[in-house]
Amino acid sequence: MIYRVDAYVGLGSNLDAPIAQVRRALDELGKLPLTESIGASRLYVTRPVGPQDQPDFINAVAHLSTHLSPLALLDQLQALEQRHRRRRIRHWGPRTLDLDLLVYGNETLQLPRLNVPHPQMKVRGFVLLPLAELAPRLRLPDGSHVGALAKALGTTDGVEVLPDNLG
Ligand code: AMP
Repeated sequence: MIYRVDAYVGLGSNLDAPIAQVRRALDELGKLPLTESIGASRLYVTRPVGPQDQPDFINAVAHLSTHLSPLALLDQLQALEQRHRRRRIRHWGPRTLDLDLLVYGNETLQLPRLNVPHPQMKVRGFVLLPLAELAPRLRLPDGSHVGALAKALGTTDGVEVLPDNLG
């Protein structure tokens, strides 16, 4: 069995009651086998990347501690997406639940099914803002600092914390 590894997972939903989808998924991530939930960011409302003629997304990031291997964790994330009956209508289109493995310990992996750290995470406000809230001092395997990456984004337009009264 693999020693405990800190992993960060990005969540997103913009279909079928997205706030509830993300809340439920945060809860379910903590129940994955050999895995414990350490914490989660607040929920964020974000404007979609790509086609704009779709609802806003709800995004969050979860911090897990897991004994699962990277691919076993990816299998679990994909199974969880399926249980939320993820609908993939088009690339970058609306989805009921999208789970991305952002960071797996200090590993850099370039496998056919899995790129870690997630290749786009350094430029996406909807990933970096919740991640920086949760783990501002986290460093990626290349030494970059999550808090600094979030500050370097330039604009945080289109990424806002979900107001309490909407939860
Ligand atoms: P997406 O449409 O963004 O959800 O992409 C899903 C595909 O990306 C799946 O086929 C995964 O195997 C692949 N993939 C590669 N790297 C990752 C990652 N870090 N997290 C989640 N999926 C990944």
